[in-house]
Amino acid sequence: MKKKLPLVSLIVPCYNEEEALPFLYAELRKVSLAMDSAVFEFIFVDDGSSDRTRDVLVDIAGKDDRVRYVSFSRNFGKEAALLAGLRASKGAFVAVLDADLQDPPSLLPEMFAAVSSGEYDCAATRRVTRKGEPPLRSLFAHGFYRLMSKISDAHIVDGARDFRLMTRQMVDAILSLSEYNRFSKGIFSWVGFRTKWMEYENIERVAGQTKWSFWKLFLYSLEGITAFSTVPLILASVFGIVFCFAAFVLVCVVIVKTALWGDPVAGYPSLMSVVLFIGGIQLFTIGILGQYLAKTYLEAKKRPVYIVKEEKL
Ligand code: UDP
Ligand code: MG
Repeated sequence: MKKKLPLVSLIVPCYNEEEALPFLYAELRKVSLAMDSAVFEFIFVDDGSSDRTRDVLVDIAGKDDRVRYVSFSRNFGKEAALLAGLRASKGAFVAVLDADLQDPPSLLPEMFAAVSSGEYDCAATRRVTRKGEPPLRSLFAHGFYRLMSKISDAHIVDGARDFRLMTRQMVDAILSLSEYNRFSKGIFSWVGFRTKWMEYENIERVAGQTKWSFWKLFLYSLEGITAFSTVPLILASVFGIVFCFAAFVLVCVVIVKTALWGDPVAGYPSLMSVVLFIGGIQLFTIGILGQYLAKTYLEAKKRPVYIVKEEKL
C-alpha cells in the first residue's frame, strides 16, 4: 500500500495582485510537481482587492481543485489575510508566502525537508540584503529591529520575512492567540518552537506595486512595539524621577544662592523654556498612554478581524 503523503497548505495573501498571480501560480505548480513527498493545497486570500484579483482566483480555482480562496468584503490588511489563511488551512504543514514572488517558492523543498524530518518546527527566512529598497527605509527597518530586541520579549530577527513553513502544532499555537491587533512577526517569535533560519538575497517584486508606503510601515512598526512591549509605558515614570531629581538640585542651588547673595530678579525666558519643556514631555508620555489605551479599546470591542464576502473552501 502506498504511504499517505502529508498535506502542505500554502497560504498567499493577495491585495491587488492580478498581475503577479499568474506568475506565482505557475511557480507554485512547478514546485509542487517537483516535490513528490507531499500533496498540496493552495489557499489564496483576496484582501478586498479593487482590481481583478478575485476573478483571477476564481479562474485558477476552476482549473485546479487544490486551489481554494477566501475573498474579504474590503481591505483588512495583510495580517487579517494571514489569519484567514491559517484558519482555513487543513495541512499537517503550513507555509505562508507573498504573492509577488519576493518569497521564492524554490526554497520550499528545503524548508519542507527541515521541518518534516522532525528536527525543526518551523523553517523561516530572512533577507540578508535589502537591495532595491530606498536607503532611508532600510535604515529605519534596522533601527526598528534593534529597538524591538531591546524592549520586547518577542525577539525578532533582523530582515525576517513572514515567509515560513510551520507544523500544524505551531499553527494551532498561533491561532490560540486571539488578539485583535495582530503583529505576525512578533506572534511567530512569541509562540517559540525550534526555528531554522534560511537566508536569501532580496528579490524585487515580479509585477505590480508595493502596498507599503514609508508612513504605513512606520505606523506598522509602532503597532509592533505597542503589541509586544510595555517598556514605553515606563518612560513617564523615568522622566518623572529624572525631573524630581533635577528639581531637588535646583531648589538647593536657589536656597544657597539666595542665602549668600540675596534674591536677584528671576529670569522669565529660562522659566518659560523649562515650563514648555516639561509640558512637552508630559504630552509625549500622555500620548504613549493614549496609544496603549486605544489598543485596549479596540481589543475590548472584540470585532472580527475580517469579514468574508465569498469563499471556496
Ligand atoms: N497584502 C495584503 N493586504 C494588504 C497589503 C498587502 O494582503 O493590505 C499582501 C500583498 O498582496 C503581498 C504581501 O501582502 O502578497 C506583501 O505585500 P507587498 O509585496 O506590497 O509588501 P512588500 O514586499 O513591499 O513589503
Ligand atoms: Mg513584496
